[in-house]
Amino acid sequence: MIANARAKDIGLLTMKSTRALPQNTTFVSAAKRFLDDGIDSVVKSIKDPEALKEYWQAARLDDKTPPAKAASVDIAGQCTLCGLCGQCPEGVAIQDILRTYQYYALDLAWPEEARRQYAAIPPSASPDVCTGCGRCETLCPQALPIRTLIAEAHAELAFGQHHI
Ligand code: SF4
Ligand code: SF4
Repeated sequence: MIANARAKDIGLLTMKSTRALPQNTTFVSAAKRFLDDGIDSVVKSIKDPEALKEYWQAARLDDKTPPAKAASVDIAGQCTLCGLCGQCPEGVAIQDILRTYQYYALDLAWPEEARRQYAAIPPSASPDVCTGCGRCETLCPQALPIRTLIAEAHAELAFGQHHI
């Protein structure tokens, strides 16, 4: 598809691109694989004009295999939406909760949208049903303190909903 689009001078943007890859694929190895497939850039997040300039310059490099560049992406503390914690025995929607909290509420500082999206998470999948078993944290490749984060998310975003 990328080759066909390029032949027609059509740009492509994909999101959540790592979801179809094997579960143990890291962000860096996924980025390298996509670069091998012929994409021009990998954008983890753009938070300000300086970051945009940096990504733009990287995308224009002739050498499209910049492992050092990929490795320098700071994803510490961030949920990469890899889905490994989807095995929560209580069915807590961890990915959705963290995406809403970390991306919309914290990264974008857009609490209205974060609350709107949080409201779409059913009570049966909210942090309310977490038993604190810790299984998700043993699975998370980002070593996130998931129990703490989802509790924070609930406290911040569920006001007036569910039980808080
Ligand atoms: S600690 Fe909570 S969210 Fe994590 S797996 Fe256990 S029940 Fe699910
Ligand atoms: S919380 Fe961890 S395991 Fe769950 S989707 Fe995010 S990065 Fe993956």
